[in-house]
Order: sequence, then structure tokens, then C-alpha cells
Amino acid sequence: MSSLPQSVHIVFIPLLAQGHMIPVVDMAQIFASRGAVATICTTPVNAHRFRTTIDRSSELGMPIQLVEIPFPCEELLTKFYGAIGKLQEPIEKHLRERTPAPSCIISDQYIFWSFETAQRFGIPRLVFHAMGCFPVLSTHNVKHSNCLDSITSDLEPFEVPGMPKGFKITKAQLPWNSVRQQDFEVFRGKIQEAEMAAQGVMLNSFDDLEHGCIEAYRKVIGKRVWCVGPVSLCNKAPFAEPNGNESDMYRRGNKASSDAEKCMAWLDSMKPRSVIYACLGSLCRLAPSQLMELGRGLGASQQPFVWVNKRGEGDSELENWLMEERFEERVKGRGIVIRGWAPQVAMLSHLAIGGFLTHCGWNSALEGICSALPMITWPLFAEQFVNEVLVVDILRIGVRVGAKVPVRWGEERKVGILVREDEIARAIHALVSEDEEGEVRRKRAAELGEKARQAMQEGGSSHSNVSRVLQYIMAGPTQEAV
Ligand code: UDP
Repeated sequence: MSSLPQSVHIVFIPLLAQGHMIPVVDMAQIFASRGAVATICTTPVNAHRFRTTIDRSSELGMPIQLVEIPFPCEELLTKFYGAIGKLQEPIEKHLRERTPAPSCIISDQYIFWSFETAQRFGIPRLVFHAMGCFPVLSTHNVKHSNCLDSITSDLEPFEVPGMPKGFKITKAQLPWNSVRQQDFEVFRGKIQEAEMAAQGVMLNSFDDLEHGCIEAYRKVIGKRVWCVGPVSLCNKAPFAEPNGNESDMYRRGNKASSDAEKCMAWLDSMKPRSVIYACLGSLCRLAPSQLMELGRGLGASQQPFVWVNKRGEGDSELENWLMEERFEERVKGRGIVIRGWAPQVAMLSHLAIGGFLTHCGWNSALEGICSALPMITWPLFAEQFVNEVLVVDILRIGVRVGAKVPVRWGEERKVGILVREDEIARAIHALVSEDEEGEVRRKRAAELGEKARQAMQEGGSSHSNVSRVLQYIMAGPTQEAV
């Protein structure tokens, strides 16, 4: 661990969702390993999930701490963003009492009030986007151009100006079409205002992945933009440590389901690069009928697989189906179902995994890239269709399952079946195919995985960007914009 010539204290304020918390905790660990004091402010439930990891780092001498801020739970579901605002006062109170005094806030884009906090403390606020520059820039460019004016069809792909060649998307797949506008509208303006006032933007990505988007985004927003990822690579060791404790990579976020341990042992017995890992993220709860299609598709593919199934509403319906179909019996030796939370990064890093069926959440896509895996893409909502374009059309390491329209978050069960069993099996066959296309796809994925690792090593682009962020913070608040 290096130490800095002066004490730099970075306060991290993540959004309360796994896809946002997980990369922020990794990022805090990266900065702490480079000598900065790192404080992560979050609610007790979220703090509990990461307590083991942070305590262990702290015992190893890393200057990192989790601070629990009580959260008004009763408001959680109805007024999420309003409730998040209630964290401001207790966080500021805590920071006033802390030594060393904070020197920078790195907070999720949705924690818009943190720019006022930063102003009060006379320190910079850097915005963290839990996604890459590619989706951030494309959203910006659609909004700030008139490219939608001539588009009449929701399903006709169109080109977004200022994006790499080959970028096409439909109106229906634009990120804001999968959230209920009225829930969010009040906050959108505040989030944008706070971002305009921020001193810079941090992204969990790396320069080689972004195909010129970082430079372009820097220009359009006139701010510093730093890619410091893939942050998941800070988690060492795939499974258990010599003392039998779970490794950081295994224990990342939630505690893994008990199925996972058996699955790791099973993976050890499988041929290298032979198993498809299927997981559609932490948030989405698809209709049982849609999940049954996924199960049938995995079964029909004849390919070994791990199927991660989140528990949720409709669980008993899916469980009954699994039992009636004798699903697990029929795929015994070839397929495993994990109910609940999988240690995703550890599993993707297992040599037996040869492909990743993903919903293209930014973290998942990046984790697949780090493990040099070709991907089967099944975007569901938010910016996932944009990420699919990056994976399939720009990086050319993926095969689409054929999802055309998003499911609205929170209304997944209403939409029923959007992707059929045969489409899933077809995409898996295409991915594992040993024809030239399949081989070239695997080769590209391997090269990209290598670039991802290089970015995080000393001298790599993301490693150097962490140094730049630290230098920027140490230089103090009077610096000009880019
Ligand atoms: N994840 C995991 N186990 C699971 C499901 C998800 O470890 O069973 C992690 C995954 O590795 C990723 C994050 O949760 O880091 C999900 O973030 P992503 O951006 O992929 O999608 P979201 O869940 O936000 O839709």
C-alpha cells in the first residue's frame, strides 16, 4: 500500500442498489490501497453486506471505513429519491466530526444533494456513474441533438450522432423508456444541475473499451472524465483463502447462496471453457413464464450451464415448475440452478466458464469482459440495450438473444414472454460454435480481457487515472475546469 504526501480523505456516497454499491466499494478499496483515507457512507442494511470485506481490509492496515447512516425505511418504496435526501443531514453531521477533514466527495449521480454538501465543506464533488462512457455519451447525444425528430417508428434502428460507427438503436430501447417518467421527473432536473456543478466524472470503465467516447464526452461536458476500472479486478483470489475464509471476490456484496459452494466444486470437474453462466442481474424479477422459457432454452441447448435464479414474487410458481418438470434431475451433471445470490465475479473467473448469458447491466458486462468471456446478450431495461450494442456491434464479442423492447422496471411480470426458448438455445449454439465466427469472437474477448487487466496494472490507463484523481484532490479546490 502506498502512502500520500498529505492526508487525502475521500468520502464515497453510493446509491442504495447493488449495481451501484458494489463498484463504489471496490473503488473505495482501490483509493485506500493507494493511500487515501476512504469513508463509505451508507445505510445499515447495505453496510452489513460489505462489513466483512471492509473490516478485513481495515485489519490489513487499509485506511477504509464504513459509516452507517440510519435510513427512513418506511419511505423507501414510495419515495425513494426523497428518502435518500434524508441522508444528507446525518452524513454532514458525521463529516463535521471526522478527522482528517474530508477533501473530496465521490458520489453517485443520483445523490444530487451531495454537491451542496461539497460546497459547504469547500471541497470538490466528483460524480460517479455506475455505467460506462458509451451509454452516458449516447444518452447525452440523443438528448442534445434533433436525431429523434425524424424517427416515427419505435422499432426502427437509427444512428445516434457522435457515437462510434455501427451504433444503432431503436426509440423503444432508449434508456428512459423503461422507467415510469412521473416517478422520476422531479429529480431529473436536480440530478442534472448537480452534475453540471460537479468538478469531474468518474466511470467504472477503461480507455481501450470506450472507442473514443471518453474524449468526446469530455468535450461536450467541459469537465474532467476519469475511467478507473474495471474496479472488480481489485478483488483477488477466486474462492477460498488458505485459512478457509471466503475471498473478497467470493464475498462481494450479499452472502452467496449455499448452492454456490456446491456449484464451485462442480465447476472444478468441468472441461475448461465449457459452461454457460446465466444471470440476469440483481434487480430484475422476470415473470415465471419467461424464466421457464429461459430454463427450457438452457436445457435445449445441450450445453453445460449454471442458471442463477433470483428469489422473488412468483417464486413458488417457478419452483413448482422446476419440480413438475424434474428439471434439475433431467439436467443432472450438465446444469446447476443457484437460488439466490451467486458469487458472480468468482464464478466468471472459473476456468470452466466459457460464455456469459447476461442482461448487460454495466457491471455484469464489464465483469464478463474481465474474464475474457464471449457473451449472450439479453437486455431488459435502463441503459442495457445500449450496452448490448457496445458488446455485440462495437466490441463484437456477443450474440443477441433477440430482445427487442425493454420491460419496465417493476412491471416485469406484466409483460410475460419476450424471448422464447428456441431463441435462447440458438444464441447459445452460435456462441459456442467452433466455426470461424465463434473462434474470432473468443479471440477478441480474450484480447479485451487482457487489455482490461493491463488498464488496472501499474502504468495502465486506469491505474494512472487513479493517480490523476489523487493529484487533483491534493492540488486543492482552485483548479480550472479542463
Ligand atoms: N451480482 C452478483 N450475484 C448475483 C447477481 C448479481 O454478484 O447473483 C452482482 C454482479 O456481479 C454485479 C452486480 O451484482 O456486480 C449487478 O450489477 P449490474 O450492473 O450487472 O446489474 P443490475 O443488477 O444493476 O441490473
